[in-house]
Amino acid sequence: MKPGASPKEMTRVLKTIRSSGLKTDTMFGEFQNVIGIIGDEKKIDLEFLGSLPGVQEVITIQVPYRLVSRSYIRRDVIVKVGDVKIGGENPPVYIAGPCSIESYEQLHRIGKKVKDAGAHVLRGGAYKPRTSIHSFQGLGITGLKHLKDVGKDLSMPTVTEIRSEFDVKTVAKYADILQIGARNMYNQDLLEACAKTKKPILFKRGFSAQIDEYLSFAERIAAHGNKQLLLCERGITPLGGSFKPATRFTLDLNAVPLLKKETPFPVIVDPSHGTGRRDLILPMSKASIACGAHGLMIEVHDRPEEALSDAAQALDPQELPGLIKSCNEIYRVASR
Ligand code: PEP
Ligand code: MN
Repeated sequence: MKPGASPKEMTRVLKTIRSSGLKTDTMFGEFQNVIGIIGDEKKIDLEFLGSLPGVQEVITIQVPYRLVSRSYIRRDVIVKVGDVKIGGENPPVYIAGPCSIESYEQLHRIGKKVKDAGAHVLRGGAYKPRTSIHSFQGLGITGLKHLKDVGKDLSMPTVTEIRSEFDVKTVAKYADILQIGARNMYNQDLLEACAKTKKPILFKRGFSAQIDEYLSFAERIAAHGNKQLLLCERGITPLGGSFKPATRFTLDLNAVPLLKKETPFPVIVDPSHGTGRRDLILPMSKASIACGAHGLMIEVHDRPEEALSDAAQALDPQELPGLIKSCNEIYRVASR
């Protein structure tokens, strides 16, 4: 819309689009408002739309993920959780904590250590996606309660994974950021249910998903009214696995500058799952910040021998202060 377009003119455009059976998305800007069309734009006469009073121009976005593209949202999106600001020019944000919440005591002990080390957000899984039914599946709601209590006690915002659309309301009551895991990137019902909570979403890339495909699913979240998105690269592996890599996954750092170019959302890297190896977390964290990541998500455990999941990729909390210091130095140099 033109900078001076009236509310009446705006309403007419919205009505015209909706009466063609399409949905709309609106971006209210400081100087002008932008209307996004959701659905098949062939259903509407774009030339007619462009002739309506108040319309500045009609742009066709060439990528399938139009609502999350830079052509639609021009400015970097800053996701705010409590006092933490993620994205844009803000310094890197560190999300740390155990893979799984194992007890109140375990989460508090590790949470205190990561907080003292300089981490901003506490992570911990209560509903774990596990390959084997015989593995620890997470504490469920008990874990969520621990997460909320520990987060409150340590004054840290929290993030935890939601596996099922039926748990969305419950998890949203206890956690500040909702995590959609790599295995669920394609789960439309889960994405839509999470989007509707209006809570920030940490949306992980599926491990065999192309970037186009990943952003098309991010588009679903945006189309359901949620643009509080954190994109997360967590390592990829070829579909069907035609070769045996030396690491659990291959951290695709190409994705970081690429996602930043295509979309305005903060990009987080998870070097724990990306490598599967504690000794590779520090170098890959540094590389992630060097190529422009807005934050890192790192699994931390002080007693890996007791850990109920992902022990091999948990950083020793004693290594976290040094990691954060190095990454912050790299950020300062890289952002010059
Ligand atoms: C996790 O972060 O705990 C997790 C299971 O990650 P991913 O979905 O990336 O495997
Ligand atoms: Mn894990």
